[in-house]
Amino acid sequence: MIYFIDVILPIPLQKTFTYSVTEQEADFLDIGMRVAVSFGKKKLYAALVLDVHQKSPELYEAKEIHQILDESPIVNQKQLKHWQWLSSYYMCSLGEVYRAAVPSAFLLESETIVLKNEAFSNVDELTDEEYLIYEALQRQAQLTIYEVAEVLGKKKVFPVIDSLIKKSVLSVKEEIYESYKPKLVKYIQLIETYNHEAKLQELLTELSRAKKQREAVLTFFQLKNATKKPIKAKTLVEKAGVSTQILNALVSKDIFEFYHIQTDRVQFDDSKNDLKTLNEHQEVALKSIKEIFKEKDVILLHGVTSSGKTEVYTKLIQEVLNVGKQVLFLLPEIALTTQIITRLQNYFGKKIVVFHSKYSVNERVEAWNNILKNEAEGQIILGARSAIFLPFSNLGLIVVDEEHEASYKQFEPSPRYNARDSAIVLGKMHQAKILLGSATPSLETQFNATQNKFGLVSLNRRHGNIQLPKIELIDIKEKKRKKEMKGHFSDRLLQLMSEALEEKEQIILFQNRRGYAPILECTTCGHSPQCPNCDVSLTYHKYKGELKCHYCHYQRALPNSCGACGSNTLDTKGFGTEQVELELKELFPNHNIGRMDSDTTRGKYGYQKIIEAFESQEIDVLVGTQMLSKGLDFKNVSLVGILSADTMLNYPDFRAHERAYQLMVQVSGRAGRSKKQGMVAIQSYNPYHQILQQVSTNSYQEMYKEQLQDRWQFHYPPYYRLIKITLKHKDFVKVNEGINWLARALQNVFRENVLGPTEPSVSRVRNQYIKNLMIKIPPKQSLAKTKEQIQKIKTTFEAVKEFRPIRFIIDVDAY
Ligand code: ADP
Ligand code: ZN
Ligand code: ZN
Repeated sequence: MIYFIDVILPIPLQKTFTYSVTEQEADFLDIGMRVAVSFGKKKLYAALVLDVHQKSPELYEAKEIHQILDESPIVNQKQLKHWQWLSSYYMCSLGEVYRAAVPSAFLLESETIVLKNEAFSNVDELTDEEYLIYEALQRQAQLTIYEVAEVLGKKKVFPVIDSLIKKSVLSVKEEIYESYKPKLVKYIQLIETYNHEAKLQELLTELSRAKKQREAVLTFFQLKNATKKPIKAKTLVEKAGVSTQILNALVSKDIFEFYHIQTDRVQFDDSKNDLKTLNEHQEVALKSIKEIFKEKDVILLHGVTSSGKTEVYTKLIQEVLNVGKQVLFLLPEIALTTQIITRLQNYFGKKIVVFHSKYSVNERVEAWNNILKNEAEGQIILGARSAIFLPFSNLGLIVVDEEHEASYKQFEPSPRYNARDSAIVLGKMHQAKILLGSATPSLETQFNATQNKFGLVSLNRRHGNIQLPKIELIDIKEKKRKKEMKGHFSDRLLQLMSEALEEKEQIILFQNRRGYAPILECTTCGHSPQCPNCDVSLTYHKYKGELKCHYCHYQRALPNSCGACGSNTLDTKGFGTEQVELELKELFPNHNIGRMDSDTTRGKYGYQKIIEAFESQEIDVLVGTQMLSKGLDFKNVSLVGILSADTMLNYPDFRAHERAYQLMVQVSGRAGRSKKQGMVAIQSYNPYHQILQQVSTNSYQEMYKEQLQDRWQFHYPPYYRLIKITLKHKDFVKVNEGINWLARALQNVFRENVLGPTEPSVSRVRNQYIKNLMIKIPPKQSLAKTKEQIQKIKTTFEAVKEFRPIRFIIDVDAY
């Protein structure tokens, strides 16, 4: 008998491939196991088995496989079904989905590089072959798969490498995860001997002439009796009214000693915290969610900022855990949502697995396996968009928090999927329930809710019945005319800031641009320095004295004079967070100013450091970009300032207004979350803009209706669907010819529903010229058929020899 397997290779080719196997291999193999196969010129891949059968391929002779890599499937059938949906809906190959879906350790190929793991020492557990590789890695820190094959004198080396990864002897080279060193807080305690009454009296007498030191000791006891908790050195300094030198003196006299505790340990003591009791509004919301879930699979929870959506989620999660099912909790960005993660970890402890693309290979493989085996450790999976690919077998609930967030959409590389939409499909495959949460739902989700496709539950009150922040619009055109601006601050904003700081409250300032200024311009000839690789002006970063491209990371030193006319009349246009920070330092020299944007959060844990510093109130005013809009929960922020609302509103995109509304409401939502009503000041040249009016009156419904009308009139989602085609190539003429050919071909079929060709606002990036076409699909036109036609045209396009080198990108639901 002859047996064959169909496999997926992790490459962007549409087809599956057939290999031959022996009868024994066929017996052993299951769908979802990996086999090592060669493909193309001597290239080895870890392929995934899709089918085992006896039909030999017609067009080619099937090659044999090299080796079976798994004892049991690493991917389950439900996943494969979901991958198939992704591949057909987003018009990409199954191989691309496979590559995106599994941890890179599963994708061994001939070019893979392995590194030694310094921590490993237990050589006794290694087989002879494994030992040979271990030894080779002592001489040379990394090896390619080819070198491993040489060491072992054979080709089939994936199983050995696989086993070495499992034994933590080596790891696959990629971005290395740097382990997080949480911030240490300095605590102080009395040396053991002085814990006896008599000794203490002695000490106080001894210190009778060192008044300050005596005061410190006495205050320490007062604090100790009042709280029973560890005492921070900082608190003692404040309460005793002494300097740190006094504490240091006491430490060197062996009276006190310092010790350190990690901040997160303090908050996260191992005992599980109980779930909070819901307030009456949350209780009502939870009840109706459960009621509606009896009939509907998807519900939108539209809850204003700080209404406590997380608490409602946790109750639902608890119920799903009780019946032994899995929960997937999607978040827009892991790094920025540590606060929610900590909250959930406090409730559910080890049941939670955080799936993070930045985790090490081994950690990811471990998480994958726990989920695959449906272990209790890992019943709740928290992750960003790529978590939809995990091997769930038994999902009961999917929560998509902040469902409107743009980061749920993957643009590059393929698959260009939307994780919210893919999660809904995934949930239905598992007969799970799906809860979408947001204070500012995306238009398409709200539309689905009003059309009764989704259920809708609202939470209109902040927890503690605190009112939503008061929003004030400030006309900066007027302020400029009256000379009431200091730099980029109006007198009104400065007044509000001084008041807040006076009350020891904290402030968040939002400016959606990083760097000092987006454009450097010569006032003599009008020239401004451009990126040599992209069609865009270089952004001025004053702190480093550099000009940088935000598209390709090109950078160069700031020139002294104009590159075109030589005069030294260089001036800046526009402003970014760096400039705001510098202005603030002059305006408020006695306060601590922090900045949160992608320049200050570079290290893997850059975010946490800033979030922690702001939480512990070491920073008084935090300036930042849209990072500040993502669900952060700071108790002491009473004022939010938006320095310039105008650029957001003028962005050339059909969603610009929707996005601007969401961003401003979310940033505003950071004010006044725990004590009293917060305050928001929005500066704009055009405060009468309808979006700003809607933000200031919290009129989501009005915004929704108005935007929806525009979408209807101009044929955009949610009425029409969009498929975007992008061509890229370094030769401008080639791209142009390609796009014109393509436009004609598409227009033949789709007529007026083809928009373009157009250039994006930055029409060359990394020396690649870019041209776009947009296909609009009317409500009644079949999506499947449309995609088929596009695919056909693509195939014809790629058959033209001159067009072959052009990159052809299809983006379904490109928004
Ligand atoms: P949202 O996600 O809706 O913006 P959160 O879930 O972050 O709101 O809740 C806002 C704040 O209110 C959090 O600090 C949370 O701990 C607190 N909170 C919400 N609901 C409750 C409750 N039922 N009991 C106690 N505290 C609550
Ligand atoms: Zn010039
Ligand atoms: Zn560039």
